[in-house]
Amino acid sequence: MGKKLSLLVLPGDGIGPEIMRQARRVVDWLVRHRGLNFNVHEELVGGAAYDAYGKPLSDEALDLAKSVDAVLLGAVGGAKWDGVDYDKRPEAGLLTLRKELELFANLRPAICFEPLVAASSLKPELVSGLDIMIVRELTGGVYFGEPRGIETLPNGERRGVNTQVYTTSEIHRIAHVAFDLAGKRNGRVTSSEKANVMESGLLWREEVTKVAADYPKVTLDHMLADSCAMQLVRAPKQFDVIVTDNLFGDLLSDVAAMLTGSLGMLPSAALGVKGSGALYEPVHGSAPDIAGKDMANPIATILSLAMALRYTYDSAAEAQLIEDAVQNVLKGGLRTADIMQPDKAMVSTSVMGDSILRAMDKLHAEDKEHTV
Ligand code: NAD
Repeated sequence: MGKKLSLLVLPGDGIGPEIMRQARRVVDWLVRHRGLNFNVHEELVGGAAYDAYGKPLSDEALDLAKSVDAVLLGAVGGAKWDGVDYDKRPEAGLLTLRKELELFANLRPAICFEPLVAASSLKPELVSGLDIMIVRELTGGVYFGEPRGIETLPNGERRGVNTQVYTTSEIHRIAHVAFDLAGKRNGRVTSSEKANVMESGLLWREEVTKVAADYPKVTLDHMLADSCAMQLVRAPKQFDVIVTDNLFGDLLSDVAAMLTGSLGMLPSAALGVKGSGALYEPVHGSAPDIAGKDMANPIATILSLAMALRYTYDSAAEAQLIEDAVQNVLKGGLRTADIMQPDKAMVSTSVMGDSILRAMDKLHAEDKEHTV
């Protein structure tokens, strides 16, 4: 057995437990067939934790989250907790995790799986083969800057204020994440801001350029955020890694997400400062409308696990195996309801899980054949 890999699983609310069940089967498979030495803990989060403990993340769960290599989260939230105080809402559990683990880098891949090309809002030739990574700064910028607030002026008018603010160290650490990733991908970083009208954007541009000097093999270009949004829908395949601030990243990552067709397919990662952990989760929410019906698409959660294997557990081969298995299942014509297309076979959450495991069996057997 290899070195111990610790994982905290937080299924959460709504479809969370259903999709997480399938991801856990993948973890079990990796232990059985690839010798990965996982030590898996499971805790409640969100509304489920509020119902059990009166708060959306127990102290024990938070301590565990801080001590493990990575956290895999399903989703939180639901109408049942709409009346709960703001600081005890399901979402507050997630915010606490992000804050306490100092998760400053949000990684949102936008990959268009070939069999789903037709589900994109863009023409197939624009998205076929699409593979972008958006790196969004997550803990600074205008969502947190001071001063902020709404005030009433002497003339009776009201005034809302938010402050966009970044320091050099905040810019450097997110830029390093982007350049490191680009070095392992296609070697290109596009940094996006509004340096033409914002001083914080100008600083961002200057500091990212300084960091680029440490990465001679990676090329850097700068693009104004409005132009970047336009280019994402005009010719998205020109991008490899896009690095941007909290606000622009929020917008650009959602635009990129839609190029790929379905929420149920999109994984994400949030990485912390060295040694403080990492959180992997699907981009979608708890989908209360389909919860408990064995209809949810488990692929985003399974692909989030693949991201954890690649970025936390140093197991790129296993990550690739999972991604290839998903691709093969889709090629074979199986679809959950959210990605259903004409002439394809609609399957449940659990059958999608079964099929991905079978595809992994097959790929693993082929791997072994090649190595003997
Ligand atoms: P949602 O992502 O839960 O659902 C939007 C639509 O997409 C729904 O029709 C849903 O059925 C569908 N969908 C989402 N994931 C799917 C999947 N895996 N398979 C098949 N279909 C899927 O967003 P919403 O409806 O705006 O929010 C519902 C709840 O989720 C709210 O309480 C919200 O606060 C919460 N939420 C949580 C997170 C999170 O945990 N990170 C993120 C977004 C929303």
